[in-house]
Amino acid sequence: MGGGRAPARPRAAATAKRADVVIVGGGLTGVAAAWELVRGGRDVVVLDAIEPGEGASSRNAGMLGRHSKHAFIDLAATMGLDTARAFFGELREIYDGAVKRIQEEGLDCDFRKCGRFVGALSPPITTSW
Ligand SMILES: Cc1cc2nc3c(=O)[nH]c(=O)nc-3n(C[C@H](O)[C@H](O)[C@H](O)COP(=O)(O)OP(=O)(O)OC[C@H]3O[C@@H](n4cnc5c(N)ncnc54)[C@H](O)[C@@H]3O)c2cc1C
Repeated sequence: MGGGRAPARPRAAATAKRADVVIVGGGLTGVAAAWELVRGGRDVVVLDAIEPGEGASSRNAGMLGRHSKHAFIDLAATMGLDTARAFFGELREIYDGAVKRIQEEGLDCDFRKCGRFVGALSPPITTSW
């Protein structure tokens, strides 16, 4: 994942005349939704204006994490502790779900768990000698 242009795939002319669900956009979001729908027995067509994965999905850095741009403490202060807990709980579920899917489906995406350094910031310490 990440770092380059999506490999060119044969363009599927619109052969399907009917589908249970038509998804516009074949990036991570559209394909993940299609995957779930197909597993649930739906007939799905994914349309993309360019190539599947041509957008951000083939250009991202390839990091899979359960972190947010918002610090837990900030979210708790603005939205409340329960909301902050629920939000970070969902991040955990999404991460676990992605890892499970990669492992169960044997997705060839160079996935490996390597941890992440999260630095703890503190106010600058001033000293006078
Ligand atoms: C530089 C960069 C680095 C990133 N790094 C990370 C990272 O390390 N980890 C991480 O988790 N996330 C990262 N992200 C974010 C992540 O890539 C995006 O959140 C994710 O790819 C979004 O997927 P998407 O399917 O919603 O959109 P996209 O991948 O952009 O897919 C949308 C698709 O819809 C198609 N489309 C759009 N409009 C139409 C239309 N009208 N008709 C038909 N098709 C259409 C496009 O061609 C495209 O293929 C990064 C993003 C960028 C830009």
